[in-house]
Amino acid sequence: MPVCDFSRLISNWTSDLILFTNGHSTLTGEQIGKLEEHHIKVVDKEIERFEHINGYLQNIYFKDGSRSFVKVMYVPGGFEQHCEIPESLGCDLTEEGYIKVDAFQETTVKGVFACGDNVSRMRTVANAVAMGTAAGMIVSKKIRFEEF
Ligand SMILES: Cc1cc2nc3c(=O)[nH]c(=O)nc-3n(C[C@H](O)[C@H](O)[C@H](O)COP(=O)(O)OP(=O)(O)OC[C@H]3O[C@@H](n4cnc5c(N)ncnc54)[C@H](O)[C@@H]3O)c2cc1C
Repeated sequence: MPVCDFSRLISNWTSDLILFTNGHSTLTGEQIGKLEEHHIKVVDKEIERFEHINGYLQNIYFKDGSRSFVKVMYVPGGFEQHCEIPESLGCDLTEEGYIKVDAFQETTVKGVFACGDNVSRMRTVANAVAMGTAAGMIVSKKIRFEEF
């Protein structure tokens, strides 16, 4: 997700939001104007390091010697599978890296089902449980029908 859209998305989480671009800003003048209009400051300095105490973020230090005190940092990270089993079984992935499934959670390999975070960007417990329920019902039905 582009950093500008990410800032818009989380802008209702805090009234004190700063966008750190780490020296590589691709923001247009229009985007910067829009962010500033919503009181989101843009800092385009290159980051040198982060300081934390027992895992709690304290400061961002920049290469120019300055620093910024921050309480929390949100990063729009990409997505990658941590488990190689689906690919080793031959399951196709989407362009974004999720396991491709049909409406019943079956992957492109017949008899292999997937659900939860590995198939969807809507990553919540509720979604994972719903998908698991659907997959369980379908698998159960398939097994019954194979046997009877
Ligand atoms: C910091 C954080 C906060 C979150 N907060 C919320 C929240 O408030 N509400 C909400 O609804 N959702 C929240 N989520 C998302 C939610 O945790 C996930 O959507 C949900 O846990 C997905 O369930 P899952 O079963 O797909 O995956 P997971 O819960 O990740 O389970 C996958 C399991 O597979 C295991 N595994 C992986 N590879 C292998 C392997 N090769 N062999 C054996 N086991 C393996 C892993 O160890 C893990 O136990 C949060 C996620 C994070 C990271």
